[in-house]
Amino acid sequence: MAELQVKELVPVFTKEQLQERVQALGQEISRDYKDKDLCCVCILKGAIPFFADLIRAIDHREMVIDTIRASSYGNSDQSSGEVKFIKDLELDVKGKDVLLIEDVVDTGLTMKEIVKHVYELGANSVRIAVCIDKRERRQVEVDIAYRAFDLSEGFIVGYGLDLGEHYRQLDGIYEVILAKD
Ligand code: IMP
Ligand code: MG
Repeated sequence: MAELQVKELVPVFTKEQLQERVQALGQEISRDYKDKDLCCVCILKGAIPFFADLIRAIDHREMVIDTIRASSYGNSDQSSGEVKFIKDLELDVKGKDVLLIEDVVDTGLTMKEIVKHVYELGANSVRIAVCIDKRERRQVEVDIAYRAFDLSEGFIVGYGLDLGEHYRQLDGIYEVILAKD
């Protein structure tokens, strides 16, 4: 189990709240990308549940999907500030309108690097859809086109978000309360 001692998981967003926001975002994205060459990109691994729900809420016949994996976190809750690409896109995104789908934007360091990378691959446009926009620790500016929820503080898990790789499978989002020991 995680090396940090978890005392409690406090509910922050329920499955129902998440699903309601996902449907609303899906409708908005469907309208915005109606005549565009949409490629939805899942930022592994944290965005998997949000991505799976969101792409099914988007009405776009020609959509293609892909995955990318970047890492800026070790097994702790602090950003290392360093971004590594562990898995790249497989599709050619040249000329495509890419929608990056992410679980959380915190410092913004990871997202800024991914956006830069996808533009370097020749994308026509790159926008961000994020489940949780955590602004308190933002270090670089990132333009978030679609967000399900804002959160001012706290380390959260569930709906893809992890603490030391655990809790990703939960269908709601919870704040982690650590034991003081
Ligand atoms: P960044 O600080 O914006 O670069 O965030 C990088 C990554 O940190 C995110 O994609 C998440 O995987 C992780 N992260 C940031 N805040 C949280 C949190 O509250 N819970 C779980 N993971 C987080
Ligand atoms: Mg992530």
